[in-house]
Amino acid sequence: MTFPLPPNSIIGLVGGGQLGRMSALAAARLGYRCHILTREADSPAAQVAHGVTISDYADPASLRAFAEQVDVISFEFENVSAEGLDLLASIKPVRPSPGVLRTSQDRVVEKQFLNDAGVPTTAWAMVSTREELADAARRIGLPAVLKTTRYGYDGKGQARLMTPDDLSPAFARLSPKPLILEGFVDFAAEISVIVARGSDGALAAFDTVENRHRDHVLDLTFAPARVSDDVVGQSQAIAHRIATALDVVGLLAVEMFVDAQGRVLANEIAPRPHNSGHWSIEACPASQFEMHIRAIAGLPLPAATRHADAVMRNLVGPEDMALWPEILTTPGLIPHLYGKAEARPRRKMGHVTRLFPKGALPGEHGIAAVLGKLAR
Ligand code: AMP
Repeated sequence: MTFPLPPNSIIGLVGGGQLGRMSALAAARLGYRCHILTREADSPAAQVAHGVTISDYADPASLRAFAEQVDVISFEFENVSAEGLDLLASIKPVRPSPGVLRTSQDRVVEKQFLNDAGVPTTAWAMVSTREELADAARRIGLPAVLKTTRYGYDGKGQARLMTPDDLSPAFARLSPKPLILEGFVDFAAEISVIVARGSDGALAAFDTVENRHRDHVLDLTFAPARVSDDVVGQSQAIAHRIATALDVVGLLAVEMFVDAQGRVLANEIAPRPHNSGHWSIEACPASQFEMHIRAIAGLPLPAATRHADAVMRNLVGPEDMALWPEILTTPGLIPHLYGKAEARPRRKMGHVTRLFPKGALPGEHGIAAVLGKLAR
């Protein structure tokens, strides 16, 4: 396959969720077709795609059949096994590369990579035994957060340790081992930067945004982040440094903490579109999804400019879905639903975006006013 991919080429996307759905919609606008590898026939991405392979992400025959039908392979779901990634990469170009996915799949590998690249993080230690945990807790101090190294998302697979009595129950509950112990960051804000990188090394970074979680699930994103210029500078420099050190081709999301002293610490990276970038669909000429498709297809990357301020609110679970009729009649809310049949608690069902003139993102009170029934 030669890059840039010509129009009508087929992009293979592993994962059938909303990130794949919005990537497939962006790809369609650029004249590409998407073929989705997903476990469920009625998945959000499969509903809007050109083709679908329904299979486990581990079945070699299905991975092979999927790869043979597409021109390039990318991901919205990263937890494909090392063997599966190697198999895909032996058949078609995989962007980002299997090495990038391996780094982001495992919190210990990820933190070591970040520190080796000179990116600051909270103090951390890998712990395999109860004794190692006690030792690490003494060194790092409490409070701390104990996490599984893999498959954790939206707060799953982690425990806050406040006192020495919390160590044993948390160690017993979390699996598989080894685990990672992280120093608790009493953060002033959580922020993120999404950066696209082409195969020629060109970078296009979206503005730094601010994220608020509720029950460990992203609730609100404010674009731009309401932080100092110095914090913006640190966060952008960190995102650029990671994207280059990882040699990513595609999109990279970097989640960061701002601590009480105004220092920016990297928390997590994800080499794919990210929930904290959904505002870019309406607020930027090229959204994070278009940037993702452009980068993996070898198209030129435009600057990630933002022509409006924005707030994005996730629609989570049955409570938020009950507000759908009102969302549709609230002036200025731009609604998105992901086509999920069942609204389970904590499940991301959709999101809304509200735009403001650039420089006019209101304070808390003003944002609550425009969100109507969605305000907390
Ligand atoms: P993660 O799965 O690492 O993204 O963590 C999910 C959320 O838990 C983060 O967005 C933070 O709100 C919180 N969290 C995770 N790690 C820490 C930490 N070391 N200190 C404080 N809060 C944390």
